[in-house]
Amino acid sequence: MRKNGDGTATWTWAVKNPINNYNIIPYIGRYVNFKDQMKGEKGVLDLDYWVLDYNLEKAKKHFEVVKPMVTCFESWMGPYPFYEDSYKLVDAPHLGMEHQSAVAYGNKYGMGYLGKDLSGSGWGLKFDFIIIHESGHEWFANNISSKDIADMWIHESFTNYSETMFTECQFGKKAGSEYVIGTRKNIANDIPIIGVYGVNEEGSGDMYYKGGNITHHPAGD
Ligand SMILES: [Zn+2]
Repeated sequence: MRKNGDGTATWTWAVKNPINNYNIIPYIGRYVNFKDQMKGEKGVLDLDYWVLDYNLEKAKKHFEVVKPMVTCFESWMGPYPFYEDSYKLVDAPHLGMEHQSAVAYGNKYGMGYLGKDLSGSGWGLKFDFIIIHESGHEWFANNISSKDIADMWIHESFTNYSETMFTECQFGKKAGSEYVIGTRKNIANDIPIIGVYGVNEEGSGDMYYKGGNITHHPAGD
């Protein structure tokens, strides 16, 4: 931070890893910061949290899920992709977004998807959907992406499945299966999950639930 001598100050925010422009977002507000660390597969991972001052105590408790989540995701998908830039959650005025190494968080410090269980199985209320889903995107979307948005299923199918991975890590194989199978009721089967190439067009929203269910392969089958 540099003070400019005229009542203003200039901050510089840097990332070491390549980043999509849609993953860059500025915030303005009364933010406070708290930090933590964990031992991950690639060494010590810095955990860095930027929240509005009135959310500080809630956030300290609510974000405890990050360590077991990262451990779970690393065991399935390999090391967190951006150790050099740390893992972050940032309070946002909207529900959430997978901004690389600074995940936007706005799920009101509750469980489920704004209190709803998208699977209808009960398991979806055992975790904060936005922390799990948007962090899952660090592996699929931010680390591994597609050339054309028609293949956005690469982002959303595998990230949808990260919710199942987390459910299985925390509550066992049966719970994971019940979660992913529960989401099948959300499949519309309207149009293909692969969109039209070359015209900036996504495929069906089925890329989430159908994609997650296609990814699911119960052991023994
Ligand atoms: Zn997503």
